Amino acid sequence: MIKRLLLPAFFVLNIFSVSAQHIDKLINATEAERIEKVLASDEMLGRKTFTPGIDKAATFIESEFKKSGLQFFGNLKTYRQSFEMIKTKFISAAGMIDGSAVAADNIIAVTTDASVKFDENSGYTKMTLDTGVNLMAEAAKLIANNKKTIVFVNQGHAKNFGRLKRFKRESFETKQPVIFILSDANPSSFNFDITHQVSTSALSNVVGILPGKTKKEEMVIFSGHYDHLGIGKANAAGDSIYNGANDDAAGTTAVIMLADYFSKMKNNERTLVFIAFTAEEIGGFGSQYFSQQINADKAVAMFNIEMIGTESQWGKNSAYITGYEKSDFGKILQANLVGSQFKFEPDPYPKQNLFYRSDNATLAALGVPAHTISTSKMDTEKMYHTQEDEIETLDMINMAEIIKAIAISSKGIVSGKETPVRVEKLNR
Ligand SMILES: [Zn+2]
Repeated sequence: MIKRLLLPAFFVLNIFSVSAQHIDKLINATEAERIEKVLASDEMLGRKTFTPGIDKAATFIESEFKKSGLQFFGNLKTYRQSFEMIKTKFISAAGMIDGSAVAADNIIAVTTDASVKFDENSGYTKMTLDTGVNLMAEAAKLIANNKKTIVFVNQGHAKNFGRLKRFKRESFETKQPVIFILSDANPSSFNFDITHQVSTSALSNVVGILPGKTKKEEMVIFSGHYDHLGIGKANAAGDSIYNGANDDAAGTTAVIMLADYFSKMKNNERTLVFIAFTAEEIGGFGSQYFSQQINADKAVAMFNIEMIGTESQWGKNSAYITGYEKSDFGKILQANLVGSQFKFEPDPYPKQNLFYRSDNATLAALGVPAHTISTSKMDTEKMYHTQEDEIETLDMINMAEIIKAIAISSKGIVSGKETPVRVEKLNR
């Protein structure tokens, strides 16, 4: 009797300890540090989008994906998912409204055209924005409409008028010009002549996959952004490089390690997509581009990993999940950690709107249970977006435990047995 009872128990124990050893062999602090040291090194010059520094980082991530035997994504012939964006540099602006000249400072043109020359007969829709409306929100709507528009913005918005320049960032495609003029006038005659230098620049996500054994069509996405802020002013210590060891070399390290782990486990029934996004810091363009290349309905879950290098507000062996209440993703993960010390908590900084501040948001808007896993203490994290975000400030042991927790807690989703509920789509 005893022997027969003991035997299966022995086997069970054995399997557990073997797999525990196995995961420790693949996911540990030494390996995390090896990868972090490269990504957060001064040589990468802060990994700013559109610079040679980020290109070096991409090459390194590619070599890691290759080592792990990942396949290319979709029809790609390389791990790089490259695309181009249109950039504009302001040259000059001049204009007249009802016969009087407008100062160049009072003209903000959101356009992808080198030359924008028009008058009241050029087919522009004329708008006025009064005080009491939300300037940025209204401007966003008008720009999204993508129609030639001239907008006369009431002087009451003078203080915030300059903020409209934020809309002059890089664009995926040519857009119809939307011209903002700071003026109380609603003129019947006007003409403007605005010039920009227009160029296109290439950028790329780095992506590799492990095809699913039975549920090939269903994607589980593991992501982090590998871009950061580049080089800025030197701090008191003379350091000008924003290494971004935590933001988000840490998440990128996790993606690389999870790719290697699952490539050796060979047990994924769903297709696993490992992606290092570009251009998160300047507008989330990498994840936007990626989301346009997939059928989001086939994306079962997204584990976006951001800043896991420091201890969370609860200490070691814990991390939070943004948008926890928007799906049962967090509950599924936690249920797979029964018996372990590790705890996934709901995001404790709801006022910071973190769910909408990283690459998960683009996919969540399409209904994907896409969440960001983080430990960053957003109210007190001292090194956040400073030159001091360096590898020495990270806890590599704790970070490895978090990556391990992600590997273990995603088990049911990876095997196709568990499927988080969809999040509510955003109407755009
Ligand atoms: Zn980040």
